[in-house]
Amino acid sequence: MPAEWVDFKSVKAKVSMETVLSHYDVRLRRVGVDEFRGKCPLPTHSSARSNDSFSVSFTLNAWSCQSASCIAARSGRVGGDVFDFVAEMERCSIREAALRLDRSLTENLLPLATPGDKNPVPYTSENRPLSFTLRNIDHQHSYVISRGLSVQTARYFGVGYYDGNGFLRGRVVIPIHNEHGELVAYSGRAIDQAEPKYRLPAGFRKSHVLFNLHRAIQSREYTLILVEGFFDTFKIHQAGHGNVAALMGSKLSDRQAELIGTHFNQVILMLDADEAGQAATAAAGTALSSMLGVQIVELASGTQPDQLASEEINQLLGGLDHDVPTPDR
Ligand SMILES: [Zn+2]
Repeated sequence: MPAEWVDFKSVKAKVSMETVLSHYDVRLRRVGVDEFRGKCPLPTHSSARSNDSFSVSFTLNAWSCQSASCIAARSGRVGGDVFDFVAEMERCSIREAALRLDRSLTENLLPLATPGDKNPVPYTSENRPLSFTLRNIDHQHSYVISRGLSVQTARYFGVGYYDGNGFLRGRVVIPIHNEHGELVAYSGRAIDQAEPKYRLPAGFRKSHVLFNLHRAIQSREYTLILVEGFFDTFKIHQAGHGNVAALMGSKLSDRQAELIGTHFNQVILMLDADEAGQAATAAAGTALSSMLGVQIVELASGTQPDQLASEEINQLLGGLDHDVPTPDR
């Protein structure tokens, strides 16, 4: 699926909350000069008690749902604009929501994907979801701490020392998910000089996924910060940027480029400042710039993001990542 360009501003100017609500057959009643209320139509809404928690302002073109469980299911967001609404209804990214609205406008109709169609984009993944999860992972292991991760960060990513059986025994394990959030593999990082440094299951195709992409999509940012490794991702997240994903190497595959182009409007390349990283930055910049805006963060020679403190990361990202989410939300 080739990535398309979408002009968020122009789509937003043309699509009103009213149009979108009527498409989904959401009926509200007026409760104030510019306030309409009713039953929340979002799939995140589970409370049967809060029957009147959904509120819309047509002047502001904005909505909110005050149900605590509904807010929690939306990662703490109380409400949003038309894009947020469609993204919640369709369980897709903001970018995909904007694309769907844009397409509907072009075709002069507003049937978006059928509500209830939870996974409208068919996908084939050669990395089959795992049927198990590893237990007894020590998030407070000294190796994890020595790499600069807080216990909170380690828990968030499910990273820790694994003392169980199998090929990951005695390594720090890192759960890897596909873009839909399905667990597809664990990588095992050696905690000493053992080779290989990282162990992956046989047959796992890392070029078909981007590490942390599913969470970056959920962060609802227009921009993705792209790094090379797992620990780069952890440190960028820890510095307050949820919109980060890793190549798990320095080469950007076609499939990875397509994934980025499908879900984001802009990418910030923050690869290692070594020879491989520089070559990768040039190659990725060329491949991605046909689909989306590309910005490059230049690190001091010989350094990589996982060596940086949060303050340094934030300084480097500075004005580039202007939609900065709050840390660990
Ligand atoms: Zn709700």
